[in-house]
Amino acid sequence: MIGYGRQSISQEDIDTVVDVLNSNSLTQGPVVNAFEKALADKCQSKHALAVCNGTAALHLACLALEIEKDDLVWVSSVSFVASANCAKYCGAEVSFVDIDPNSGLICTTELAQKLKNAENNGLLPKALIVVHLAGQSCDMKTISSLCQQYDIKIIEDACHALGGQYESKPIGSCQYSDISVFSFHPVKPITSGEGGALLTNKKELANRARLYANHGIVRDEEKLQHSTQGPWYYEMQALGYNYRLTDLQAALGLSQLKRLTDFTLKRNQIAKLYTDALESMKLPFQHLQQSIGQISAYHLYVVRQSSHLSQSQLFKRMHEQGIGCQLHYIPIFMHPYYAASTDAQSFPGALEYYHSALSLPLFPDMDEKTIHKVLNVLSNCCR
Ligand SMILES: *Cc1c(COP(=O)(O)O)cnc(C)c1O
Repeated sequence: MIGYGRQSISQEDIDTVVDVLNSNSLTQGPVVNAFEKALADKCQSKHALAVCNGTAALHLACLALEIEKDDLVWVSSVSFVASANCAKYCGAEVSFVDIDPNSGLICTTELAQKLKNAENNGLLPKALIVVHLAGQSCDMKTISSLCQQYDIKIIEDACHALGGQYESKPIGSCQYSDISVFSFHPVKPITSGEGGALLTNKKELANRARLYANHGIVRDEEKLQHSTQGPWYYEMQALGYNYRLTDLQAALGLSQLKRLTDFTLKRNQIAKLYTDALESMKLPFQHLQQSIGQISAYHLYVVRQSSHLSQSQLFKRMHEQGIGCQLHYIPIFMHPYYAASTDAQSFPGALEYYHSALSLPLFPDMDEKTIHKVLNVLSNCCR
């Protein structure tokens, strides 16, 4: 079965991990810091914190922004559930914003309208979590100017988007947001096995996230609340977590980061091959709309189908012929945990997207033969 995504591991990736295995520190050593610095440099942001997974990074983003019980957080309606769960971990209420079915990204017209209504009802959110679905940035300029009007914080769930660019700056630069978050799960643009990161330009947010990622423990003498009781002394100032990344993982992440430019290029080349072929073969599949002048990280190649087959029929036929296509994603509000508090009919964009979307296999090591196999199967299925 050809899966929708997979990692690419080089000999150098393997060697750098083995080096750490032979070193003194498997965790809390120097490689995590080196990875963080390299991430901040690559994304042109001031601070980076590497953690154990993308979900932890999203949770820390909410903690850093002081999201608390009964706060309201808005989330793009089509994403992996972690995009919304992070706010629930903090006791916040989650409400969803509809997407544009053509791009899969948060719809700024809907957002503007929802903000106006919320202002009238006194129900403005404390933060908005936007998702760069498939690797393409949302319209951050518009989103940021809307949120500024109402003093709303912005988290970019950029788990799909490391390597992409928005207005000629790397996604993760936080030019139009408070915090950006990445995941290094094996299907994502780079991997550290499991892993994630939080990027920000605000020192206070970076410090708070770091505190919560390490049990809420402070060792720095200047930051102690009580006076020091000896050289062993440290104090716990907040109820934090152990969200650390190991040096083993950071070594893989650092080595992969050096390959990111190449990965992004390959992903874009494959995407172009698909797009050109779908058009020339006149297949009933429409690629997600791409905004001009930006660079997608192409974590996913999503098409919307209008064939004579139902979505389940198409899925079954593709899987029978060895193509492990997937659906990213079931709208979050349709999951039982969220369904009771959300009226699905208020999200026509998300529903329209959900009923036609399909992710085709896309990963850097995909060869042309495999790409043509996918296209042949698609074409046979629609006959
Ligand atoms: C993968 C992913 C996450 C969660 O990342 P993990 O590293 O698996 O915890 C969150 N949001 C989106 C959009 C993702 O794709």
